[in-house]
Amino acid sequence: MILRFPGTRGEIEESSRRHTYNASLVVQTPKASVLIDLGEKYDPALEDVLNGFDALLITHAHPDHYIWTKKDASMVKIPVYLTRETFDYSKNKPRKYRIIDAGKSFSVQDLHITAHKVLHSFRCPAVCYKMKGLKQIVYAPDLIDTQEDKQKVLAGTDVLIADGSSLNINMVRRRNGKLFGHTQVKTMIGWCKKYRIPRLIITHCGKQIVTMDRDLLSKKIMEYSQDEIDVAIAVDGLCIKI
Ligand SMILES: [Zn+2]
Ligand SMILES: [Zn+2]
Repeated sequence: MILRFPGTRGEIEESSRRHTYNASLVVQTPKASVLIDLGEKYDPALEDVLNGFDALLITHAHPDHYIWTKKDASMVKIPVYLTRETFDYSKNKPRKYRIIDAGKSFSVQDLHITAHKVLHSFRCPAVCYKMKGLKQIVYAPDLIDTQEDKQKVLAGTDVLIADGSSLNINMVRRRNGKLFGHTQVKTMIGWCKKYRIPRLIITHCGKQIVTMDRDLLSKKIMEYSQDEIDVAIAVDGLCIKI
């Protein structure tokens, strides 16, 4: 399985050479090639290869994940997989679309995929994607927590690729008794330990990670992971084989 990161930046004003484009992920198996999320500020190099993917999967309708929230994107001709809530959110719609139900698995070639609801936003309900090829990965660029039992969503995962909006500051807000926002990398390292996920890759980087001194960031991550979990911060263009 090959993982490639065309972008690793969250919905923030700050940007750096490492984190220029909105977070998205390419997952490649011997038979399938899938792109997850296409935000407003996507890597322009994606345009040349966009219609070569078997599918585009969307996590939610925030504009850093779903370009249609801001404008029509008629250059996308491949099937776009998304929940009914995401599809209904914006006036612009993908041409070819597949409505998916959270919790119900589907396949794209040799990739077995399940969307699971996550707690993140009430206006734009979000899902994470669990994908099984030879390895199992979970891609959750925006979340406070999973809605279902984490054991059910995360057990058996080889690599968790998730929300870097905050390293260790509270980004959870409450309105009308409902929570929205983002969890912390520190908390996700705890999930990896609890659910025996050996590897965590941080993407969708927020202001704290984008602007933090690199040595201090490494030191903090080492302190939290205590060498039990392999934690890395993804940068735009990163490509790894798992
Ligand atoms: Zn986002
Ligand atoms: Zn979001």
